[in-house]
Amino acid sequence: MGANIRMENIDKRYKLANVIRDVNIEIQDGEFLTILGPSGAGKTTLLKMIAGFEDPSKGKILINGNDISRTPIHKRNIGMLFQNYALFPHMTVYKNVEYPLSVRKMSKKERKEKIDAVLKRVRLSEYASRYPRELSGGQQQRVALARALVFDPLILLLDEPMAALDKQLRKQMQLEIKEIHRELGITTVSVTHDQEEALTMASKVCIMKDGMIEQVATPVEIYEKPASVFCAKFIGEANVIPCPVVSVDAAGKGKISVHGLVIPAPDQTRSYAADDTVNIVIRPEKINLVDDSYGGLKFSGTVEQCVYIGDCLKLKVRLTNGHHLKVKVFTSYALSLDVGDEVLLGISEEDIVQVKP
Ligand code: ADP
Ligand code: MG
Repeated sequence: MGANIRMENIDKRYKLANVIRDVNIEIQDGEFLTILGPSGAGKTTLLKMIAGFEDPSKGKILINGNDISRTPIHKRNIGMLFQNYALFPHMTVYKNVEYPLSVRKMSKKERKEKIDAVLKRVRLSEYASRYPRELSGGQQQRVALARALVFDPLILLLDEPMAALDKQLRKQMQLEIKEIHRELGITTVSVTHDQEEALTMASKVCIMKDGMIEQVATPVEIYEKPASVFCAKFIGEANVIPCPVVSVDAAGKGKISVHGLVIPAPDQTRSYAADDTVNIVIRPEKINLVDDSYGGLKFSGTVEQCVYIGDCLKLKVRLTNGHHLKVKVFTSYALSLDVGDEVLLGISEEDIVQVKP
């Protein structure tokens, strides 16, 4: 059980700057939303407003349809795990986890049941009487997670809680949090700058830039159909190609030139003018090595860089017009490829995505 969160026309101004600008987003009950964006984009500020540590300068936040502007932090029923998840050093694991329950009216027996259950969930039942200093970093973090979950919150907020952990521990923790989310169905909003983490964990990804939302979509949509050049470059690798419109018919339908090859503009829902330029995105793995019989778009070029990364080769290919394409091919198809080789690259028109500037 979770809660539906809605942010309507949210602005946040500090003295000098407008750090959140007209944010509108709805997070469905049980969803796992991950907010991605560069440092300073406003991710933490957004979470703080949901939690109640900051008030919006404008707009409304609704939880299950109720405006929570006047609801104090401890009544919002939100669990939080932030990067500096400081545990109380002089308290045992058990006491740390009990802390949020002590501000709520609850019998000792009821508390113990809840604490035992949550410690079991984070696999720390054996550690209840230890002090934080007697635990590893990963274990300390699991205590912090238990503390965030022990009072059965409707919403869990995570602000880069994994940033300080090493890669292996981070991966393990990601899967653990994902599992907990699946079991509890708690509405979860997490912040990260790690794109792989976002794609692993989230049911929806939100990309932020300069205090505004660039795109909210499923991980697959975000990757396959990025809304803008920024989104395409922020997640995964991308060839972003500005393409001139070379002809427009009477209905306003345009054709564009992709490095000299003319195709209909991928977005046929809008009309074009003769001097328009359209940005397209092609993911490197959508480009294949082909022969003359290939029916899609074909570009010939020379391999200028060839990097072996195990399962794949990452190529930088210089086309005959002097431009470059990033290409990723499975090693098993192209193991003998090397710098200086002439290649023919094939791209299917369906794999070309038109994006906003
Ligand atoms: P992110 O978490 O995406 O890195 P933040 O939400 O922490 O970004 O910050 C967004 C912007 O707001 C930054 O430019 C930051 O300097 C500014 N900011 C954050 N908190 C305050 C504050 N208390 N007073 C003034 N500016 C702030
Ligand atoms: Mg932050």
